[in-house]
Amino acid sequence: MSALNSADTQWVSDGIAHLSTLVDSDLPGWSRTGFSEQDAAARDWIHGQMRALGLSVSTDPVGNVIGRLDGQDPNAPDIVIGSHSDTVPGGGRFDGIVGVVGALEVIRMLQRSDVRLRHGLRVVDFSNEEGNPQGVKLVGSRAVAGTLGAQALGATDDEGRTLAELMAAGGRSPEHVASARWDRRDVAAYLELHIEQGPHLEEAGASVGVVTRVCGISTFALEVQGRRDHAGTTPMATRADALCCAADAVLAVQRIGASGTDTVGTVGAVTTSSPLTNTISEDARVTGEFRSPDERQLHELQRALAQTVPELDARHRTRSELMWKTDVPVVMDEALSNLAIAAATNVGHQALRVYSGATHDSVEMSAMMPSAMIFVPSRAGRSHCPEEWTDLVDIGHGVDVLAEAVRLRDQAP
Ligand SMILES: [Zn+2]
Repeated sequence: MSALNSADTQWVSDGIAHLSTLVDSDLPGWSRTGFSEQDAAARDWIHGQMRALGLSVSTDPVGNVIGRLDGQDPNAPDIVIGSHSDTVPGGGRFDGIVGVVGALEVIRMLQRSDVRLRHGLRVVDFSNEEGNPQGVKLVGSRAVAGTLGAQALGATDDEGRTLAELMAAGGRSPEHVASARWDRRDVAAYLELHIEQGPHLEEAGASVGVVTRVCGISTFALEVQGRRDHAGTTPMATRADALCCAADAVLAVQRIGASGTDTVGTVGAVTTSSPLTNTISEDARVTGEFRSPDERQLHELQRALAQTVPELDARHRTRSELMWKTDVPVVMDEALSNLAIAAATNVGHQALRVYSGATHDSVEMSAMMPSAMIFVPSRAGRSHCPEEWTDLVDIGHGVDVLAEAVRLRDQAP
């Protein structure tokens, strides 16, 4: 049995409700994109909450808000809990936010229960987990892990503005990114509470999940070269229509994505430099991705698309080039995940092992220290949309499990 009081769900609910007021009214849903005015306001509020709970608090040069509760043993490395408070444009009220407000409630639970940990407890609101128009995700956790380099900071959006410029405009100091890096000797374990963002927990009727692995992502760009010809005079049988080849590729991605177990394939955009109806498309570009929790399957999906492209070229008399960028699946720490499952049992829940289709700050943290994730159900599996919803009772269960996992981990060396 746990020695901790249960989560104060009213306080958690009030915190989530308050953050849902700090949103950009020019965007749909509950939008608080990284480095926006609303993002800064939310981080200031979280900073204030941490201070009110008696933590020593700092906001680092990239906008990570970090609060620390002292442990009894000054030589014991910190246990780290947290998530992110930024959202995608048009996002919801729970993604990331549940893990940040939940982590604050863990501090309150320890205080209400008069439990003093041996390890220091570090609570983090990671900066800009969701990415930006420059296409860089996990900004804050990458800075902490030391993997946010010059290439990422120099990445540009469609207007040529760099990530460093976006961060500076949001009041951060990207030139001091190196000082945001943590020393891995100071940290012992990372535990993140997050909404599932998929349907598996709800379908299984489970209140709590523990993540076994985070899906790998293979992002591709397909460049199709056709031939520019007159749309009225060129017979259908002799055309080299790049856009038609691209359209075929979109459906191939759908078919290949559906071919494996737990695999998905998505096309993000199809573009052409000649969007004219009276001219046959000379070129087209298709961008998309495949995901799988299994590295072998991910390679299988890549191989399937690579094999299909020459067939499409033959059909459409085009020439195509396929380019990849792959992030392999990340396996969460087995011992820490087992500890999270034991924590769930202690507070009366049978945790289901699930994989995560979405990426998380835990991916960056897992390179530094043993990491595990606790999931709570998403209604109808919806996320990154205004309809995103998790019942308060489930959030409360997730916070109970997180707090108990912290307590159990504290008893280990
Ligand atoms: Zn998230």
